[in-house]
Amino acid sequence: MIELNEEQRMIINTVKQIAQEKIKPRAAEIDENEEFPWDTIKLFAENGLLSPLLPQQYGGIGAGYLLFALILEEISKVCASSALILIAHTDGMLSILCGPDENLKKKYLPQFAKGKLAAFAATEPDAGSDILSMRTRAVRKGDSYILNGQKCFITNGSAADIISVYAYTDPGKRAKGLSAFVVEKGTKGLIYGKDEKKMGMCGSINCELLFEDMVVPVENRIGEEGGGFTNMMVALDMSRMFTASQAVGLAQGAIDEAVKYAKQRIQFNQPISRLQGIQFMLADMEANTEAARQLTYHAAQIMDNEQWNQVPKTSAMAKFIASDNAMRVTTDAIQVMGGSGYIKEYPVERMMRDAKLIQIYTGTNQIMRAVTAREMLKD
Ligand SMILES: Cc1cc2nc3c(=O)[nH]c(=O)nc-3n(C[C@H](O)[C@H](O)[C@H](O)COP(=O)(O)OP(=O)(O)OC[C@H]3O[C@@H](n4cnc5c(N)ncnc54)[C@H](O)[C@@H]3O)c2cc1C
Repeated sequence: MIELNEEQRMIINTVKQIAQEKIKPRAAEIDENEEFPWDTIKLFAENGLLSPLLPQQYGGIGAGYLLFALILEEISKVCASSALILIAHTDGMLSILCGPDENLKKKYLPQFAKGKLAAFAATEPDAGSDILSMRTRAVRKGDSYILNGQKCFITNGSAADIISVYAYTDPGKRAKGLSAFVVEKGTKGLIYGKDEKKMGMCGSINCELLFEDMVVPVENRIGEEGGGFTNMMVALDMSRMFTASQAVGLAQGAIDEAVKYAKQRIQFNQPISRLQGIQFMLADMEANTEAARQLTYHAAQIMDNEQWNQVPKTSAMAKFIASDNAMRVTTDAIQVMGGSGYIKEYPVERMMRDAKLIQIYTGTNQIMRAVTAREMLKD
C-alpha cells in the first residue's frame, strides 16, 4: 500500500477533479472527431501536469515517478488519448532531462513547464522493434549536423514544439554510432508527413516526420556522439512504467462502467449484477487490475529509489502485465454490458480500442517479455 503526503494528496485530488469535470466530457468527442485536444493541453499546462517530473530548478514540481503514475492512472480512467499525449510529451522531455547537457536543460526544460509540447522520435518504417535498423543519418558539417531520414507513428509529431530525434552519426558502430538531437518546430528541412488514421487513441496525433537536409546546431546534440542509444533506452525504460499506469487506469475506468451498468440492467427480474456468471467476470477484472496496479507502483517506486539497474525488468513486466490485462478487462467490460457495451453511447468500446495500442507501443509485449527474460538470464 502506498502512502501520500499532504501535498501529493492535494495534487491527486486536483487531477481527479480535472479528469472527471473537464477531460471525461470531451473523451468521446475527441475520439469521434479525431480531434487533438488543445484545451486539455492548456489545462495540463495551467495545472503543472506537463512537467510533474521536472525538478523545481527547471520550473517543474519534482513530483516523482509514483505520483506521475497516479496522475496518469486518473487521466486514463476517463481518456487514454489524453494520457498518451502526456506520456509522449514526457518521453521527449526525458531525453533532455536524462542527458548530461546543462545548457540544453536550462534552455528547453523550463519551456515545458510553461506549456511547450514535446515528442519522441525513434521509430522508422524499417525500424520498429529492431530499432538499430534505423536509416536516419546525421552528418557533421562545421557547427551543425545535416539530418536526412524519416520517422513514423510519432505521437504529438506535428503538434510538438520540441522533438527528441535519434539518428546515426556513425552507422558502422551500430548502438555506439547512434546520437540524439533536440529539434525545434520550424527547423528548415523538418517536414510533416501524413497523420495516421488509427483504430483507437483517436484523440491524439501520430504522424510521419521527414528530414530533408534538416540543419541542427551542434549544441543541440544530447550528450556525446554515440550516446543516443543509451539516452533512448533510459527514456523508453521509464516510459514503459508510464504506459503500464495508463493501462491500469484504462482497465479501472472500464471496470467502473461495467459495475455501474451491471447494477442497473434488469434481466430475468433482477439486476444482472446478481448473476454469478457476471460476478465472476467482475471479480477477475478487479483482482487482475489490482495485481497490475501493485506491480506498476513497484516499478515506479524502484525509479523513485533510483535503483536504475532494476528499471528495465520491472518496467517491462509492469507494461506487459498491465496492458494485457487492460485488453482482457476492456473486452470483458463490453461482454458484461452486452449489446450496449458495443455501442458508442457507452465508453467501453472506445476503451477496448485504446487498450490495444498499449500492447504495441513503447515496445511490443513480445519485446517486453524478451527484455524480462534477458534480465533474468544474464550473468
Ligand atoms: C499509435 C502509435 C503511437 C506511437 N508513438 C510512437 C512515438 O511517439 N515515438 C516512436 O518513436 N514510436 C512510436 N510508435 C512506434 C511503436 O513504438 C512501434 O510501433 C513498436 O515499437 C513496434 O514496432 P513495429 O510497429 O515496427 O512492429 P514490428 O517491430 O514490425 O513487430 C511486428 C510483430 O513482430 C513481433 N516481433 C518483432 N521482433 C520480435 C522479437 N525479437 N521477438 C518476438 N516478436 C517480435 C512484434 O512483437 C510484433 O508482434 C507508435 C506506434 C503507434 C502505433
